[in-house]
Amino acid sequence: MLHDIPLNQHGPLAQPMTRAIEACVHCGFCLAVCPTYQQLGQEMDSPRGRIVLMKEVLEGKLSWEAAQPHVDRCLGCLACEPACPSGVPYRDLISPFRALAKSHFQRPFGEKLSRWLPAQTVPYPSRFHAAATMGQVGKAFAPLLPGALKPMLELLPAHLPPKQSWPEVTPARGERRARVALLTGCAQQVLDPDINTSTIEVLTRNGVEVLVPRAQGCCGGLAWHTGALGAAQDFARRNLDAFPEDVDAILTNAAGCGSAMHEYHLVLRGTADEARTEQFRKRVLDVSVFLQKLGLREPLPESGQRRRIAYHDACHLANAQGVRREPRLLLRAIRGVELVELPDAHLCCGSAGSYNLDQPQIATALGEQKARAIIASGATVLASGNIGCLTQLRVHLANLGSPLPVRHTFQILRDAYAATEAKSNQDRPAC
Ligand code: SF4
Ligand code: SF4
Repeated sequence: MLHDIPLNQHGPLAQPMTRAIEACVHCGFCLAVCPTYQQLGQEMDSPRGRIVLMKEVLEGKLSWEAAQPHVDRCLGCLACEPACPSGVPYRDLISPFRALAKSHFQRPFGEKLSRWLPAQTVPYPSRFHAAATMGQVGKAFAPLLPGALKPMLELLPAHLPPKQSWPEVTPARGERRARVALLTGCAQQVLDPDINTSTIEVLTRNGVEVLVPRAQGCCGGLAWHTGALGAAQDFARRNLDAFPEDVDAILTNAAGCGSAMHEYHLVLRGTADEARTEQFRKRVLDVSVFLQKLGLREPLPESGQRRRIAYHDACHLANAQGVRREPRLLLRAIRGVELVELPDAHLCCGSAGSYNLDQPQIATALGEQKARAIIASGATVLASGNIGCLTQLRVHLANLGSPLPVRHTFQILRDAYAATEAKSNQDRPAC
């Protein structure tokens, strides 16, 4: 026995946590890729250091309070997982630990408020839309507002886009090749609803029928990653009920949502619904993976002008779901596109769910660092597959005075299809 963790004291999540702790051989290979270790240079803010801290807390040798600041500073970016030669499943440890900590640790009022606000608004599109609308007025009074609210206001766009809605069923164009159900996300519906519109447009153009189940809700990611286990379980159950079984895949176009849905087996571990999560998780795919596997139909999209696109790997796509190749292949399929790779592509942009609200200093440093790398790449467009990263990078590029457009991969594909169509209409001889 490498540990002294009393399994029966820590509930159903103790077992995966203990397995993760036991798998760590303390080699330190993960340190070099950890953004918080890079920023702070402290062992306790590295994956290895946090694993030791969490082990000691679970063994009863260290207080929850002593470990919490270091656990809070973890982005949950999972860059440590692919870097680990021992295959430590860090994801089985960090969110379960946060869920346990909730019942052992009382936060000061300011911290409670800055966590309560996003938890009560972001997962509910109508509330979030109302809050974001008020927030735009509030931006003018930012210097007078409590510190906890300022990072939230900074992330809001100058103008909220108009609300959009999507039919329950959008039929495939031409011969149907597949049928899918789409999770429309919650923050995404408010901050950039055009991402869903373009996703549906690109899929249907490629022969895919798209269902948008009305009963769906938030993926539960925000709740799960901040230790709100009960809320995460409610969201997971709602989606298990809402998504039909007679579809080829359940698609997400926001990396954070996809990765949260892949963790429903942990969220619902030890409950009556745990068994339902296995089949469900197997059907959840990022939209880029699904479309790349299905194959783009001819004619391929064509960019109206030459475009140099920098692709930013969202951590919850690249590290959590292992998706790096597919979005790049889809973008490269657009004629006229040159893809540029960013240095230190494995480094998080600092968005990480609500991290930029909870840890604004580290989030700002990471966002600025990423924005500088994007500008230096000479790209004319930035592409990514996660609303959190898109929002964070829009703010930091603008803060550095860059007018670079920041687009979801499927918005770029949709625009390229539109350019192809416009060109073929021009080329058609007039009657
Ligand atoms: S690389 Fe893996 S085994 Fe090595 S210290 Fe990090 S988590 Fe532990
Ligand atoms: S999840 Fe990211 S921030 Fe947290 S320990 Fe791993 S690499 Fe570091």
